[in-house]
Amino acid sequence: ESISELLDRLCAVVADYPQPGVSFKDLTPVFADPQGLRRLVDELIAPFAGQFDIVAGLEARGFVLAAAAAYASGRGMLTIRKAGKLPREVYRDDYTLEYGSASLELHKDEIAPGTRVLVLDDVLATGGTVGSAVRLIERAGGVVAGVGVILELEELGGRANLGDHQVLSLQKV
Ligand code: IMP
Repeated sequence: ESISELLDRLCAVVADYPQPGVSFKDLTPVFADPQGLRRLVDELIAPFAGQFDIVAGLEARGFVLAAAAAYASGRGMLTIRKAGKLPREVYRDDYTLEYGSASLELHKDEIAPGTRVLVLDDVLATGGTVGSAVRLIERAGGVVAGVGVILELEELGGRANLGDHQVLSLQKV
């Protein structure tokens, strides 16, 4: 079974969630499948083998992927969190969403200068969230080694908002 077939079989599509007109892609059934999580993580890290020192996960579904990827590749993991969750000094980045705004934070002292960071999240939509994470990593002195996502919602143009960074998506929808 190809990764696309696996995703077609297991990804749930929820109409009008979280608001009317949105077709929400729910990957939790893929995470729950015994082969699914392993396949996702193996495919996300293989192209970046040897190119990263640490894996950053974006709260919350990115944590699932990043923790497994860090474990599988013998690296550590960075948690990039929604505002107000991290207890020590943070860098904070505010970004705009389709409706409203959001903020992400990263502990100031968690990456040494030049650390190569692989950024993982479940879905790339407008690219606002990953773009914010990229800014945080760069402010903290890290170097973005690449971005990996399961699904890329192509018509929202997220890739174009990420400049020259290498972006891997396992499926474009
Ligand atoms: P962006 O910032 O517009 O690229 O949206 C990406 C963020 O919103 C990610 O953290 C995703 O987890 C979440 N997201 C957006 N659309 C979906 C979806 O259809 N399914 C699951 N998560 C989504």
